[in-house]
Amino acid sequence: MGVRPTERLEKAPAKLNLALDTPFHHANGDEEWDMVMTSVDLADYVAIKTLGKNGRIKVTTDSGFLPNDHRNLAYKAAHLLATKFGQREAVNIHIEKHIPVAAGMGGGSSDAAAVLRGLNDIWQLGLTQTELCELGLQIDADVPYCVWSQTAHVTGRGEKIDVLPKLPAMWIVIAKPKISVSTPALLRQVNYEKLAHTVPTDLLTAINAGDYEGICANVANVLTPITARQHPTITHIKEKMLHFGADAAEMSGTGPTVFGLCKKQSRAQHVANGLAGFCREVYVVRPLSLPPIVNSVETM
Ligand code: ATP
Repeated sequence: MGVRPTERLEKAPAKLNLALDTPFHHANGDEEWDMVMTSVDLADYVAIKTLGKNGRIKVTTDSGFLPNDHRNLAYKAAHLLATKFGQREAVNIHIEKHIPVAAGMGGGSSDAAAVLRGLNDIWQLGLTQTELCELGLQIDADVPYCVWSQTAHVTGRGEKIDVLPKLPAMWIVIAKPKISVSTPALLRQVNYEKLAHTVPTDLLTAINAGDYEGICANVANVLTPITARQHPTITHIKEKMLHFGADAAEMSGTGPTVFGLCKKQSRAQHVANGLAGFCREVYVVRPLSLPPIVNSVETM
């Protein structure tokens, strides 16, 4: 038997919602989701180290905005596995934060998924992806998807993951305005009867066919009008992205991040340049399955 590892460095990529609907909510208040998600090459890095036997979980980050205690989703993931499998080893987690916080890009969920993957390896628990997803759902609805971090159709409370083919070649411009949206507060405003529900059938067909134009024609998010009512800058950013030449623009998650799709890098860079000065953070990224490259245009 080989020597058991005591350290892992996990990449925790940001997610985007190419489509998002919430058809109803369950009796206990959980949302039912119907989402098409993808992951991009904008990622946190999560270093996980086990040592000693005092059972202590310690989280540090290079971000001044995040809780370092039990409220951190990475802490919750370590605590969940340690409790379930009776592990007494101390765990040190350091998060190098690159994904904007409370932005609709699933940063906290991806960090939690990274800890589940990392500790599954270090503690040699032998859990399958599906078992990690079931555990992840106890932390947040986006954690099961983040365990996979591959383009997928996500339904149920977030635990039903149908992995899709890789996206065709494209560039994605991500714009994060200087506002934060609380997902629970936003979801409390949803009137399920009045939402303009969509089923992502055409988007799934386009992804399965590798049809870039079909993907652009079918990105959708039923929550956009609710967030944009409070934050009109979301509508302005969408309009600007299309004006500067993006083939599609939509909000991710509950916002406020808006993404635009472009076929060529030069067009994506043009869109990003057009937004810089108007928006706090703009990134040009690619879907995760393509060669990694991240350009960041930081303004203000
Ligand atoms: P979601 O849509 O899943 O709520 P999001 O992408 O909009 O997530 P996150 O960046 O995950 O937003 O942050 C949501 C909340 O979770 C914030 O209030 C933040 O303080 C908290 N949080 C806890 N742990 C983390 C973490 N490791 N990284 C980011 N946020 C975290």
